[in-house]
Amino acid sequence: MIAANVSRLLAELPAGVGLVAAAKTRTPQEVLEAVEAGVETVGENFVQEAERAVAVIGRRVRWHFIGHLQRNKVARAVRLFDMIETVDSLQLAVAIGRSCLRAGRVMPALIEVNSGLEPQKSGVLSDDVEDLARRISLLEGVRVKGLMTMGPAVGDAEDARGCFRETRRVFDRLARLHLPGVDMECLSMGMTMSCRVAIEEGATLVRIGSGIFGEGRR
Ligand SMILES: *Cc1c(COP(=O)(O)O)cnc(C)c1O
Repeated sequence: MIAANVSRLLAELPAGVGLVAAAKTRTPQEVLEAVEAGVETVGENFVQEAERAVAVIGRRVRWHFIGHLQRNKVARAVRLFDMIETVDSLQLAVAIGRSCLRAGRVMPALIEVNSGLEPQKSGVLSDDVEDLARRISLLEGVRVKGLMTMGPAVGDAEDARGCFRETRRVFDRLARLHLPGVDMECLSMGMTMSCRVAIEEGATLVRIGSGIFGEGRR
């Protein structure tokens, strides 16, 4: 089931669009099944869950953090992850940068955009993305690689199109600025129900959970 879903997805995704298996609440064995079927990047929402999965699966895949990162978990996150997709404040970027400097590395990071304009959701508003990118670009230990967005939590895929299009517009505008220390390489948007629309709107990474692991235990 998991293996068949991964094979189908990998066959369907156009060239240039990467698959992130969104693994929240799944067991390390389930994640391992996806990896053995060809998943090369795993997205984790929780540091502790990720530690358990990394202990079983190891470094044969890339690990992306896609949850809300609490400041007191930054040091552990820096040890685990190859990318943090959900940077939404300068303070968080500063904490990641400091931790990375101590660890002698640089963390690739995406700025999370609150494209749905939902006040309770995380992410920065599109108008504030450029300013945050400029400030992060001055930090050592962390490097902006693009943008990530969730889009609306409810509704059908077409409801997300406007959010994805807006995020793409911000992405293109930033890319054209060629800011030193900012590499606009990744646009992470689209989940199981919305990935087709997200790809049409320019996603380079889609984060798929239930489309790989099935529904349940959410
Ligand atoms: C759960 C989750 C996904 C995947 O959602 P599905 O609808 O199960 O595909 C993608 N991104 C983030 C940040 C998530 O938390």
